[in-house]
Amino acid sequence: MSILIIGQGIAGTLLASALRQQGAQVHIADGNLTGSSSVAAAGIINPVTGKRFVKSWRFDEFFPVAKETYQQLEQELGIQIWEERPTLRLLGTPEEANDWSIRCAQPEYNNHLGETDDPGAWGQYLKPGFRFGVILKSARANLPLLLSSYREVARQTGSFFEKNFDYQETEALLKDYDQIVFCEGWRATANPYFPEAQFRVSKGEALIIKFTGQITATPPSDMLKKTMLLVPMGDSTFWVGSTYRWHFEDTLPGEEGRDYILGYLKEMFEVPFEIVRHVSGIRPTMIDRRPIVGPSTLNPNVLIFNGLGTKGSLLAPFFAKQLAKELCKA
Ligand SMILES: Cc1cc2nc3c(=O)[nH]c(=O)nc-3n(C[C@H](O)[C@H](O)[C@H](O)COP(=O)(O)OP(=O)(O)OC[C@H]3O[C@@H](n4cnc5c(N)ncnc54)[C@H](O)[C@@H]3O)c2cc1C
Repeated sequence: MSILIIGQGIAGTLLASALRQQGAQVHIADGNLTGSSSVAAAGIINPVTGKRFVKSWRFDEFFPVAKETYQQLEQELGIQIWEERPTLRLLGTPEEANDWSIRCAQPEYNNHLGETDDPGAWGQYLKPGFRFGVILKSARANLPLLLSSYREVARQTGSFFEKNFDYQETEALLKDYDQIVFCEGWRATANPYFPEAQFRVSKGEALIIKFTGQITATPPSDMLKKTMLLVPMGDSTFWVGSTYRWHFEDTLPGEEGRDYILGYLKEMFEVPFEIVRHVSGIRPTMIDRRPIVGPSTLNPNVLIFNGLGTKGSLLAPFFAKQLAKELCKA
């Protein structure tokens, strides 16, 4: 079985890895195109999302697969990409604090959420007046490090090509490969093999910041979430994001996104900070918010693995494994 994967974001990377485990021969092509989502992402996996703190779709099924997959890749590549850490949840209003307490009391949530009065190391940075909750089971997969390490190994073994794929080459390449799988992220909106796929992509931006004020205690190692998420990245820097824009003219970081994030940071913190970097990417979200995985109706040997939306770190491991098993069954 020989398979060509177009796109080496988290979808293409994990599919390549799962296919190789099934014994398939895999080549990957990626054109390093702007707007790639995986390299802008913090890679966070959270059991609850949204204003009502609702549990993520099939979280208890997907989380163990994600953990196992990233830990296996850590071994294989000799890198550290998986970290489990609690997240301090800021609750801005009495209503929010009340909703949180209700969730904590529900049996389905009490393994994942807890209550606390202590902001820990974040206390020295925050403005007064917040209440707190804690997300016990959150994790981070370092996607940029995974992608660059995986690419380096694939390049060395001659199975990675830096190439912007042209759809007109598809039929000719199917003489060399049994199947072609498109893992192109948001650029699949222009893919002629999947005209029925209903994307609703969104641009997201994030800042990498460094606090510059007088901090005496050790910097926090837990993540912090209110409307924005802050993720410790080492070296006293923090990833802060992200924004959501459904109408955008380009894929690049912009002033509007930066100012939006800064507005939130100034509401939350009294300690000054500086911007180290500003990143952006386009999330490949579907209208129904579910991944799209499977063959084209125009050619059964052309497939798609996409639609990971805001949750690529959690969803990609499970669906990559399922698709790899399906493809190698034949
Ligand atoms: C700011 C931001 C923060 C985020 N934070 C999180 C988070 O904390 N946790 C989480 O789970 N998710 C997060 N996400 C979402 C996450 O990034 C996506 O779910 C996931 O990365 C999508 O991966 P993908 O592989 O489908 O697409 P992408 O990462 O976009 O990869 C697609 C790849 O295909 C290549 N490509 C496209 N077309 C072609 C072509 N014709 N020829 C060759 N190559 C091509 C591109 O160069 C690119 O490398 C975030 C997204 C953004 C923007």
